[in-house]
Amino acid sequence: MTGGLEWLALARGTLDRAALRRRDDDWLAAAWADPRTRVLVVRDGRSLVTGDPDPALVLLPPAQAPDGDRWLLGEDAEGTVYFGVTAPLPAVEGAEPAGLRQVGALLADRDSGLLTHAVALEHWHATHRFCPRCGTGTRVASAGHVRVCPADGSQHFPRVDPAVIMLVTDASDRILLARGTRWAADRRSILAGFVEPGESLEQAVAREVEEEVGLAVRDVRYAGSQPWPLPRSLMLGFTATADGTVPLRPDPEEILDAAWYTREELRAAIDAGDIVAPGPLSIAAQLIMRWYGGELPSMPHF
Ligand SMILES: [Zn+2]
Repeated sequence: MTGGLEWLALARGTLDRAALRRRDDDWLAAAWADPRTRVLVVRDGRSLVTGDPDPALVLLPPAQAPDGDRWLLGEDAEGTVYFGVTAPLPAVEGAEPAGLRQVGALLADRDSGLLTHAVALEHWHATHRFCPRCGTGTRVASAGHVRVCPADGSQHFPRVDPAVIMLVTDASDRILLARGTRWAADRRSILAGFVEPGESLEQAVAREVEEEVGLAVRDVRYAGSQPWPLPRSLMLGFTATADGTVPLRPDPEEILDAAWYTREELRAAIDAGDIVAPGPLSIAAQLIMRWYGGELPSMPHF
Protein backbone atom coordinates (compact mmCIF):
# COMPACT_ATOMS: atom_id res chain seq x y z
CA MET A 1 0.00 0.00 0.00
CA THR A 2 1.78 3.12 -1.20
CA GLY A 3 1.01 6.49 -2.74
CA GLY A 4 -0.37 9.76 -1.44
CA LEU A 5 -3.52 10.31 0.54
CA GLU A 6 -6.14 11.98 -1.62
CA TRP A 7 -7.89 14.15 0.98
CA LEU A 8 -6.57 15.59 4.21
CA ALA A 9 -8.89 17.95 6.05
CA LEU A 10 -6.32 20.53 7.10
CA ALA A 11 -4.16 20.41 3.96
CA ARG A 12 -6.70 21.98 1.59
CA GLY A 13 -5.76 25.66 1.63
CA THR A 14 -6.16 27.36 -1.75
CA LEU A 15 -4.63 30.81 -1.20
CA ASP A 16 -1.34 32.13 -2.47
CA ARG A 17 0.40 32.97 0.81
CA ALA A 18 1.97 36.02 -0.89
CA ALA A 19 5.13 35.65 1.18
CA LEU A 20 6.98 38.19 -0.97
CA ARG A 21 4.44 40.86 0.10
CA ARG A 22 5.03 40.44 3.83
CA ARG A 23 7.70 43.15 3.93
CA ASP A 24 6.01 45.43 1.37
CA ASP A 25 4.46 48.04 3.65
CA ASP A 26 2.87 50.03 0.81
CA TRP A 27 1.21 46.93 -0.62
CA LEU A 28 0.02 45.84 2.84
CA ALA A 29 -1.43 49.30 3.57
CA ALA A 30 -3.22 49.39 0.22
CA ALA A 31 -4.62 45.90 0.82
CA TRP A 32 -5.90 46.89 4.27
CA ALA A 33 -7.54 50.01 2.77
CA ASP A 34 -9.31 47.97 0.08
CA PRO A 35 -12.94 47.24 1.06
CA ARG A 36 -12.76 43.95 -0.88
CA THR A 37 -10.15 42.66 1.58
CA ARG A 38 -11.43 40.08 4.05
CA VAL A 39 -10.42 39.61 7.69
CA LEU A 40 -10.66 36.46 9.77
CA VAL A 41 -10.85 37.21 13.51
CA VAL A 42 -9.44 34.45 15.69
CA ARG A 43 -9.24 34.11 19.46
CA ASP A 44 -8.17 31.05 21.47
CA GLY A 45 -8.16 28.87 18.37
CA ARG A 46 -11.71 29.73 17.37
CA SER A 47 -13.36 31.91 14.74
CA LEU A 48 -16.96 32.78 13.90
CA VAL A 49 -18.69 30.28 11.65
CA THR A 50 -22.12 30.38 10.01
CA GLY A 51 -24.19 27.68 8.38
CA ASP A 52 -25.04 24.16 9.37
CA PRO A 53 -24.48 21.57 7.91
CA ASP A 54 -22.16 23.45 5.51
CA PRO A 55 -20.25 25.88 7.71
CA ALA A 56 -18.39 28.90 6.35
CA LEU A 57 -16.09 31.37 8.09
CA VAL A 58 -17.34 34.87 8.88
CA LEU A 59 -14.94 37.17 6.98
CA LEU A 60 -15.22 40.89 7.66
CA PRO A 61 -14.15 43.91 5.59
CA PRO A 62 -11.25 45.74 7.30
CA ALA A 63 -13.49 48.64 8.39
CA GLN A 64 -15.58 46.21 10.47
CA ALA A 65 -12.69 44.22 11.92
CA PRO A 66 -11.75 44.74 15.58
CA ASP A 67 -8.32 46.11 16.51
CA GLY A 68 -5.66 43.52 17.20
CA ASP A 69 -2.39 42.04 15.97
CA ARG A 70 -2.71 41.53 12.21
CA TRP A 71 -1.18 38.90 9.93
CA LEU A 72 -1.25 38.53 6.15
CA LEU A 73 -2.80 35.13 5.32
CA GLY A 74 -2.73 35.35 1.53
CA GLU A 75 -4.40 36.32 -1.70
CA ASP A 76 -6.86 34.41 -3.89
CA ALA A 77 -6.93 34.07 -7.69
CA GLU A 78 -9.33 37.04 -7.97
CA GLY A 79 -6.92 39.31 -6.10
CA THR A 80 -8.83 39.39 -2.80
CA VAL A 81 -6.41 39.69 0.11
CA TYR A 82 -7.01 37.93 3.44
CA PHE A 83 -5.74 38.94 6.86
CA GLY A 84 -6.03 37.35 10.27
CA VAL A 85 -6.58 39.48 13.35
CA THR A 86 -6.43 38.25 16.93
CA ALA A 87 -9.10 39.93 19.02
CA PRO A 88 -12.25 39.06 20.97
CA LEU A 89 -14.72 37.61 18.48
CA PRO A 90 -17.33 40.25 17.51
CA ALA A 91 -21.04 39.60 17.77
CA VAL A 92 -22.38 38.54 14.36
CA GLU A 93 -25.97 37.40 14.00
CA GLY A 94 -26.29 33.75 13.09
CA ALA A 95 -22.62 33.00 13.75
CA GLU A 96 -21.06 30.86 16.45
CA PRO A 97 -17.43 30.39 17.55
CA ALA A 98 -15.88 27.15 16.33
CA GLY A 99 -12.39 25.64 16.15
CA LEU A 100 -10.63 23.22 13.86
CA ARG A 101 -11.82 20.13 15.74
CA GLN A 102 -15.45 21.12 15.15
CA VAL A 103 -15.33 22.45 11.59
CA GLY A 104 -11.89 21.73 10.10
CA ALA A 105 -13.22 18.80 8.07
CA LEU A 106 -16.52 20.54 7.18
CA LEU A 107 -15.32 23.90 5.88
CA ALA A 108 -14.71 24.38 2.16
CA ASP A 109 -11.10 24.24 1.01
CA ARG A 110 -10.29 27.96 1.19
CA ASP A 111 -11.84 28.41 4.63
CA SER A 112 -10.21 25.28 6.04
CA GLY A 113 -6.82 26.61 4.95
CA LEU A 114 -7.51 30.10 6.33
CA LEU A 115 -8.53 28.83 9.75
CA THR A 116 -5.62 26.38 9.94
CA HIS A 117 -3.11 29.12 9.10
CA ALA A 118 -4.65 31.71 11.46
CA VAL A 119 -4.96 29.31 14.42
CA ALA A 120 -1.34 28.22 14.00
CA LEU A 121 -0.09 31.84 13.91
CA GLU A 122 -2.24 32.87 16.86
CA HIS A 123 -0.82 30.15 19.08
CA TRP A 124 2.75 30.85 18.03
CA HIS A 125 2.48 34.57 18.74
CA ALA A 126 0.78 33.94 22.08
CA THR A 127 3.53 31.59 23.26
CA HIS A 128 6.64 33.24 21.78
CA ARG A 129 6.53 36.78 23.08
CA PHE A 130 10.11 36.81 24.42
CA CYS A 131 13.48 36.35 22.79
CA PRO A 132 14.85 32.84 23.53
CA ARG A 133 18.41 34.28 23.52
CA CYS A 134 18.08 37.19 25.92
CA GLY A 135 14.52 37.34 27.25
CA THR A 136 13.65 40.74 25.77
CA GLY A 137 10.09 41.15 24.51
CA THR A 138 10.00 40.60 20.74
CA ARG A 139 8.02 42.57 18.16
CA VAL A 140 6.03 41.32 15.19
CA ALA A 141 7.51 41.70 11.69
CA SER A 142 6.87 40.41 8.16
CA ALA A 143 3.10 40.78 8.44
CA GLY A 144 2.95 38.32 11.32
CA HIS A 145 5.37 35.65 10.11
CA VAL A 146 8.49 36.70 12.04
CA ARG A 147 9.22 38.05 15.53
CA VAL A 148 12.32 40.21 15.98
CA CYS A 149 14.27 40.89 19.17
CA PRO A 150 14.95 44.67 19.51
CA ALA A 151 17.93 44.02 21.80
CA ASP A 152 20.02 41.64 19.70
CA GLY A 153 18.27 41.75 16.31
CA SER A 154 17.64 37.98 16.23
CA GLN A 155 14.76 36.81 14.08
CA HIS A 156 12.36 34.10 15.24
CA PHE A 157 10.14 32.16 12.87
CA PRO A 158 6.92 30.25 13.59
CA ARG A 159 7.62 26.93 15.28
CA VAL A 160 6.18 23.66 13.95
CA ASP A 161 6.72 20.36 15.76
CA PRO A 162 6.94 17.38 13.39
CA ALA A 163 5.16 14.21 14.49
CA VAL A 164 4.98 10.88 12.67
CA ILE A 165 1.86 8.73 12.52
CA MET A 166 2.02 5.28 11.00
CA LEU A 167 -0.29 2.58 9.75
CA VAL A 168 1.48 -0.70 10.47
CA THR A 169 0.30 -3.79 8.61
CA ASP A 170 1.39 -7.43 8.80
CA ALA A 171 1.70 -10.17 6.15
CA SER A 172 -2.03 -10.94 6.50
CA ASP A 173 -2.86 -7.25 5.81
CA ARG A 174 -4.07 -6.72 9.36
CA ILE A 175 -3.54 -3.28 10.96
CA LEU A 176 -2.20 -2.50 14.39
CA LEU A 177 -4.46 -0.35 16.57
CA ALA A 178 -3.75 0.81 20.10
CA ARG A 179 -5.39 2.65 22.96
CA GLY A 180 -3.39 5.44 24.59
CA THR A 181 -3.28 5.51 28.37
CA ARG A 182 -5.32 8.73 28.57
CA TRP A 183 -7.94 7.78 25.99
CA ALA A 184 -11.58 6.76 26.44
CA ALA A 185 -12.15 3.02 26.77
CA ASP A 186 -13.48 2.60 23.23
CA ARG A 187 -11.01 4.81 21.38
CA ARG A 188 -8.39 3.16 19.16
CA SER A 189 -5.98 4.57 16.63
CA ILE A 190 -2.71 3.92 14.90
CA LEU A 191 0.62 4.69 16.58
CA ALA A 192 2.16 8.17 16.53
CA GLY A 193 4.84 10.22 18.22
CA PHE A 194 7.00 13.31 18.03
CA VAL A 195 10.20 13.38 16.02
CA GLU A 196 13.23 13.84 18.28
CA PRO A 197 16.21 16.14 17.64
CA GLY A 198 18.79 14.55 15.37
CA GLU A 199 16.37 11.95 14.03
CA SER A 200 15.01 11.29 10.54
CA LEU A 201 11.30 10.74 9.99
CA GLU A 202 11.91 7.09 9.11
CA GLN A 203 13.96 6.61 12.26
CA ALA A 204 11.20 8.21 14.31
CA VAL A 205 8.63 5.78 12.85
CA ALA A 206 10.81 2.79 13.71
CA ARG A 207 11.65 4.07 17.20
CA GLU A 208 8.06 4.89 18.15
CA VAL A 209 6.71 1.49 17.04
CA GLU A 210 9.50 -0.30 18.90
CA GLU A 211 8.98 1.78 22.05
CA GLU A 212 5.20 1.59 22.07
CA VAL A 213 4.60 -2.08 21.15
CA GLY A 214 8.02 -3.73 20.83
CA LEU A 215 7.89 -4.41 17.08
CA ALA A 216 10.56 -3.90 14.43
CA VAL A 217 9.14 -2.29 11.28
CA ARG A 218 10.19 -2.54 7.64
CA ASP A 219 9.18 -0.78 4.41
CA VAL A 220 8.61 2.62 5.99
CA ARG A 221 6.92 4.72 3.28
CA TYR A 222 5.70 8.33 3.33
CA ALA A 223 1.97 8.75 2.66
CA GLY A 224 1.16 12.44 3.17
CA SER A 225 1.12 15.28 5.65
CA GLN A 226 -1.13 17.90 7.14
CA PRO A 227 -0.67 20.79 9.53
CA TRP A 228 -2.10 20.05 12.96
CA PRO A 229 -2.02 23.33 14.87
CA LEU A 230 -3.54 21.76 17.98
CA PRO A 231 -1.42 23.44 19.06
CA ARG A 232 1.58 23.37 16.72
CA SER A 233 2.32 20.03 15.04
CA LEU A 234 2.87 18.93 11.49
CA MET A 235 1.57 15.37 11.14
CA LEU A 236 3.56 13.20 8.72
CA GLY A 237 1.76 10.00 7.74
CA PHE A 238 3.59 6.76 6.95
CA THR A 239 2.91 3.13 6.25
CA ALA A 240 5.14 0.33 7.51
CA THR A 241 5.06 -3.44 7.86
CA ALA A 242 5.90 -5.67 10.82
CA ASP A 243 5.85 -9.35 11.76
CA GLY A 244 2.37 -10.07 13.10
CA THR A 245 3.51 -13.29 14.79
CA VAL A 246 5.79 -11.47 17.25
CA PRO A 247 4.07 -10.98 20.62
CA LEU A 248 3.12 -7.32 21.21
CA ARG A 249 4.78 -5.67 24.20
CA PRO A 250 2.82 -2.46 24.91
CA ASP A 251 4.69 0.23 26.83
CA PRO A 252 2.58 0.62 30.00
CA GLU A 253 3.47 4.32 30.19
CA GLU A 254 1.84 5.07 26.84
CA ILE A 255 -0.30 2.17 25.62
CA LEU A 256 -3.11 0.42 27.51
CA ASP A 257 -3.61 -2.22 24.86
CA ALA A 258 -2.68 -2.96 21.27
CA ALA A 259 -3.93 -5.57 18.83
CA TRP A 260 -4.01 -6.58 15.16
CA TYR A 261 -7.29 -6.28 13.26
CA THR A 262 -8.53 -7.67 9.97
CA ARG A 263 -11.11 -5.57 8.12
CA GLU A 264 -13.84 -7.93 9.30
CA GLU A 265 -12.66 -7.75 12.91
CA LEU A 266 -12.51 -3.94 12.83
CA ARG A 267 -15.99 -3.68 11.32
CA ALA A 268 -17.39 -6.09 13.91
CA ALA A 269 -15.75 -4.21 16.78
CA ILE A 270 -17.14 -0.88 15.56
CA ASP A 271 -20.60 -2.37 14.94
CA ALA A 272 -20.58 -3.83 18.46
CA GLY A 273 -19.67 -0.45 19.93
CA ASP A 274 -16.37 -1.75 21.30
CA ILE A 275 -14.28 0.63 19.20
CA VAL A 276 -14.68 4.21 18.04
CA ALA A 277 -12.32 4.94 15.17
CA PRO A 278 -10.67 8.35 14.75
CA GLY A 279 -12.73 11.06 13.06
CA PRO A 280 -12.03 12.18 9.49
CA LEU A 281 -10.14 15.31 10.58
CA SER A 282 -7.12 13.17 11.36
CA ILE A 283 -4.54 11.62 9.10
CA ALA A 284 -5.08 8.43 11.11
CA ALA A 285 -8.63 8.12 9.83
CA GLN A 286 -7.55 8.68 6.24
CA LEU A 287 -4.84 6.00 6.48
CA ILE A 288 -7.26 3.53 8.08
CA MET A 289 -9.96 4.28 5.48
CA ARG A 290 -7.54 3.76 2.60
CA TRP A 291 -6.57 0.38 4.04
CA TYR A 292 -10.19 -0.48 4.79
CA GLY A 293 -11.33 0.46 1.29
CA GLY A 294 -13.87 3.14 2.16
CA GLU A 295 -15.58 4.88 5.03
CA LEU A 296 -15.73 3.00 8.28
CA PRO A 297 -19.18 2.09 9.63
CA SER A 298 -20.78 4.77 11.85
CA MET A 299 -17.92 7.14 11.34
CA PRO A 300 -18.44 10.42 13.18
CA HIS A 301 -18.46 13.52 11.00
CA PHE A 302 -15.91 15.21 13.22
ZN1 LIG B 1 17.17 38.92 22.20
